[in-house]
Amino acid sequence: MNDERLSASPRMRGWCPGAWRPMATGDGLLVRVRPPLGRLTRARMLALCEAAETWGSGLIELTRRANLQLRGVSEAGWPELMAFLVEHGLAAPDAEGERRPALMLAPDWREGDATVEAARRLERRLADWPALPDKWGLALDAGPVPVLADVPADLRLERSREGGLMVRADGRDLGTPVADAEAAVALMTRLAHWFVDQGGLLAGRMRRFEMPLPEWAEADTEPAAAPETSDHAAGLTPGPHPHGRVVGLPFGRAPASALRSLFSAEGITGVRVTPWRCLLLEGEGANPNTKDSAPDDGLIHDARDPRLAMDACPGAPFCAQASVATLGLATSLANALAERSREPSGTPATGRLHVSGCAKGCARSGPAEVCLTGRDGRHDLILNGCADDAPVATGLGEADAIEYLETRDALRL
Ligand code: SF4
Repeated sequence: MNDERLSASPRMRGWCPGAWRPMATGDGLLVRVRPPLGRLTRARMLALCEAAETWGSGLIELTRRANLQLRGVSEAGWPELMAFLVEHGLAAPDAEGERRPALMLAPDWREGDATVEAARRLERRLADWPALPDKWGLALDAGPVPVLADVPADLRLERSREGGLMVRADGRDLGTPVADAEAAVALMTRLAHWFVDQGGLLAGRMRRFEMPLPEWAEADTEPAAAPETSDHAAGLTPGPHPHGRVVGLPFGRAPASALRSLFSAEGITGVRVTPWRCLLLEGEGANPNTKDSAPDDGLIHDARDPRLAMDACPGAPFCAQASVATLGLATSLANALAERSREPSGTPATGRLHVSGCAKGCARSGPAEVCLTGRDGRHDLILNGCADDAPVATGLGEADAIEYLETRDALRL
């Protein structure tokens, strides 16, 4: 394989793996699939499960930017996998098609609304956009209130306080009003060219590009306020949903076999991916019998599951940067949290707990009430901070970390 196609190191900033540019990790190649319009048909989802079991490790991961990825792909198997992904509409036919800015849609869009109208128009126009940094993305979030405000994006389509449509450049408090989806796409296109022409590539992201917006994009309109919900799902939690049903993936990963049996149910038409480690299943078959107890399939069907309030990266042995395993500790902590919440005086966790294999903190960029970061084979403990913040305790083993948190009652969060 051409070495340039592989990342030298996941520490590299500003570079995103894809299907055509897989990333070398501790367990083989990581191949990322970007679902068109944030959605896969049932047939495509089943094809992805087949791909994970045939060429990958059998796991499917859901990323914080609403992409799906396969791990454990060998270099020898990658060309065959790519042919399969292209054939099933799971990858662009060539690397160029994958370099376009990612579109993230508010998952509860409805056919004909401004979110999906703008997305379809953008899909047709993105080929004519200038080359932009790999991480550039657009948030199409035109429901009554923004739900993607915490998700990284360089340009946003949102609603104003008065309910009109507006385009907002990331890092700016105010946006530019637009008449409709077509006008929004025209303005986004013009702003992308402006960013490149004015030297924005040096800054990399719109948020870091401090040049005032041009006169033709005067930003004078306040966006609608974001709802006050927990940050793991912006109101989208496991259980029935007007489009079907929401299912959670523990720490953003699930065996393809579990997903295949989920999607084998008749009446499921497709799935929308979200940046909150949840999938939104579409169709009447998504709730075959809501009176049944939640299936024991390793997925999250209960909105009270403590794993929804936790973030954990793959850790060792999956990531070469990790000096500790993360998923076993995260599961032990989730069990301890569940135990605590069953006590007579117990309450469900309300804060967040982050287990990170190293200080890079891939699973969560913001602070968490409790963060355990791997370093030299042990764990640092950080309270109310990010994975690379100063620890309050260092050199903890897994049992030490759990005991430390229990004795300080931090497991109630
Ligand atoms: S945070 Fe986790 S996934 Fe990211 S580089 Fe470190 S060990 Fe790897």
